[in-house]
Amino acid sequence: MSKHILVTNDDGVTAPGLLALVQAMQAIPDTRVSILAPDRNWSGSGHVKTLDRPLRIKEVVLADGSTAFASDGAPSDCVALALLGFFEEKIDLVVSGINPMANLGHDVTYSGTVTAAMEALIWETPGIAFSLGSLENHLGALDYTSASAIACRVVETSLAHRFTVGMLLNVNIPYLPADQIKGFHITRQGLRVYRDRLDKRVDPRGRPYYWIGGDSPTGTPEEGTDVGALSAGYVSITPIQLDLTMYTSIPTLGDWGWENK
Ligand code: MN
Repeated sequence: MSKHILVTNDDGVTAPGLLALVQAMQAIPDTRVSILAPDRNWSGSGHVKTLDRPLRIKEVVLADGSTAFASDGAPSDCVALALLGFFEEKIDLVVSGINPMANLGHDVTYSGTVTAAMEALIWETPGIAFSLGSLENHLGALDYTSASAIACRVVETSLAHRFTVGMLLNVNIPYLPADQIKGFHITRQGLRVYRDRLDKRVDPRGRPYYWIGGDSPTGTPEEGTDVGALSAGYVSITPIQLDLTMYTSIPTLGDWGWENK
């Protein structure tokens, strides 16, 4: 039976990474592709639910002539709109991306790309987030050719298997030509090293304002992690669930004597 795939992203409907992912999905036999993405860039927006205003959706045409829809909501709003019935036909898989920069370790809760896939889990639909490990100082347009081929392979493989309920896949693809990508590693979240700095300035009226600035994050390239796989030239596939409970702390916390005055 034909599979209905929703494509979204967090960089906005006009982003080249979205078009690369749309074309990858359209190349998969026996699928139907619908596109609903934000009308602007929501990178770093995290898992959002817009409740204080209505959401508008307009039809747009992508650079290759594909019909897409753009909403003024966040990536996770786009997924909710689609899965709650905007397209009127059941969606079997949500794919998000291709984000130009990697989403590794703790990035997943910041990332609009990954939180779009998290929203899919809320509605019991499998989700896959795709990000490209390009460098911060990359000049000119990014080449999504090999990432698009990898996304196609990942989705074809996923559709051939039963997706565990409550699991999303966070896929990070090295920014390398296809013949230099070494293979696929199933990974856990690694350690991102954030280098944020608070930059305090003063506005023309003498009031302070703040930028969270600093250098882009690095990571500890430990083997078995997303950071390690990407830095070694492998596609990193991390299974992620929404249950953030720290199970190892449940017994310890139980001993804290909460009811003793
Ligand atoms: Mn982004």
